[in-house]
Amino acid sequence: MKQMLVQYKYYETMADQMSAVVKEYESGLYKHLLFHIYSGILEEKLLSDITGAIAELFPEADIAGTVSAGEIAYARLMEKGVLISAMLFEKTEIRKFVFSDIKGNEVSVGEKIRTGTEGVDHIKAVELLLPGTEFNTRIILEEMSKMNPGIQVFGGYAGGHSMKSGEHFIFDENGLTDNKIFAITYAGEDFHIDVDKSVGWRTLGHHFVVTKADENRLIEIDNAPAVEVYEKYLSINKTETFAEETFEFPLIVKVENDELLRHTLKVEDDGTLDLAGYVTEGMYIYLSYGDPTFIVQKVNKRLDAVRKFKPEAILLYSCSVRKEFWEAYVNMEMIPFGKMAATSGFHTWGEVKRNPETNAILEYNITLLSIAMREGDAPEGELQEVAIDDSVLEGQASLIKRLTQLVSATTSELQVAYRNLAEMNERLTILSNYDALTGLNNRRHFEELTGKIIEKAIAEKSPTSFIMTDIDYFKSINDTFGHLTGDEVLKEFAEALKSSIESIPGAEVGRWGGEEFLAVLPGLNEKEALEYAEKLREEMAGKTIPSIRKSVTISIGIITTDGEEDRTDLFNKVDHCLYEAKNNGRNCCVQYKTQK
Ligand code: GH3
Ligand code: MG
Ligand code: MG
Repeated sequence: MKQMLVQYKYYETMADQMSAVVKEYESGLYKHLLFHIYSGILEEKLLSDITGAIAELFPEADIAGTVSAGEIAYARLMEKGVLISAMLFEKTEIRKFVFSDIKGNEVSVGEKIRTGTEGVDHIKAVELLLPGTEFNTRIILEEMSKMNPGIQVFGGYAGGHSMKSGEHFIFDENGLTDNKIFAITYAGEDFHIDVDKSVGWRTLGHHFVVTKADENRLIEIDNAPAVEVYEKYLSINKTETFAEETFEFPLIVKVENDELLRHTLKVEDDGTLDLAGYVTEGMYIYLSYGDPTFIVQKVNKRLDAVRKFKPEAILLYSCSVRKEFWEAYVNMEMIPFGKMAATSGFHTWGEVKRNPETNAILEYNITLLSIAMREGDAPEGELQEVAIDDSVLEGQASLIKRLTQLVSATTSELQVAYRNLAEMNERLTILSNYDALTGLNNRRHFEELTGKIIEKAIAEKSPTSFIMTDIDYFKSINDTFGHLTGDEVLKEFAEALKSSIESIPGAEVGRWGGEEFLAVLPGLNEKEALEYAEKLREEMAGKTIPSIRKSVTISIGIITTDGEEDRTDLFNKVDHCLYEAKNNGRNCCVQYKTQK
């Protein structure tokens, strides 16, 4: 395959530049021709002239254009131009699909793309060019994620140079649109593709939790307006320039095997952050910062992988935030790719990639997506090593380097401390709520749960029953087998009791004290409670307790309530019933009768 670039300066000279592509194509070596057009100029007439001219010269070619926040030609930023990247394939099947009428039909669009790939032999990749403001791309990507695992996915979101204006258009010979999607499939036995992302942003401080969110709107973090994390930790306040000021400090959310960076496009009056990309409630979220040394390391690692792949063509879809972050040094991380193949691409408003481990197709921000392609086997011999020349960062950046080192070291200490604290809290909760011997709810926690269960029952106008059990002649078990065996018996009995009450939805059991247990049975009326207690009593009497190789019997008190009476009264009454059961000779149930 061959990748040829045409950089538009004046329309009149474009035809001349195109002649090289025409000449190459006329060699007859090629089966398919794909034109990517990345345009930093949003002029409908110009773009229609360009796409029209290409369509006339190459009627069978596919054209996929996107408005761009920076055009990447020969691995360098070309400010506000039009870049035409021609990819000539010898054997690879290229197909472009256009989807319209997407809003509200996201699931079916995703399904169509997915089922479309099922009929294509040797399909290797799907590229998506997305306008992505009018509809919910997350749903489309979720649906597409069910595609065959081997298929790679990459793509980018269109958007112009200005962070404020929208300009999220894609285009082809049929015009400019912000309400369609282009999906391009790459298929062929001899076609090879390697897609990966490089990031290099690091988490800053400890984690927070997303407590309220609606797709791309991050409403609350740790139950407070989302903007507060920026106000508190970075003193960046709700102002017009919030988006620019937070560029270097995007948010990172951790998902399964992956992390998603999210930068803010706008802050709303109530402190909600409008993000480039979705977040969902419950996600762990961190502030992050761009660490130049770390970014260089990450890209170098990727460069090495691309070098081993031996590409014939490279696309770079790089987030526009990286352009803002690097400013004058933006080319630094791209130039080495250009040493391996003609490299073209654009600065995006979001990147799309499939995670090879989870198969999830996710929307990223702030990544440098590098897409390496090749037809046929990799040629013999090693490609020369390539790495970023970051000597420009020396000297002036040493203060930043040391500070980022300091932040990185203290952050990891803080994160470890936080993790330990979270574990301790979890253990404390267990200790304070559960009985150490049996693992059942302790009395305090049981009473707390009971309060909630009764409240719910009152609201649902349904009865609640309680049964209090006490093991008969337990003292003699201690006396015969020893206190330790007595403990074992209690554990085994508690286990049996717990698994018995699990058959009743919403029921809870707690250790009331010694060898007395109290269970709350929501929804059971007097008759049902008595039936259940009888069954439980018989079950226990018939069960061999392993540690003493014999059974124990229990006495049971039962009470049913509509929930209105005082809980202390209830517990006293059921305790009294239990006392009566003991007096009646044990191994029996006594029920408190509300209507005597
Ligand atoms: P009854 O049939 O009247 O209930 O007779 P009982 O022997 O079971 O008498 P009671 O309920 O008054 O005594 C309970 C005994 O349970 C007293 C106490 O030594 C023992 N016990 C209480 N807690 C534990 C414990 O955690 N482990 C052990 N091994 N024994 C306990
Ligand atoms: Mg007892
Ligand atoms: Mg007792």
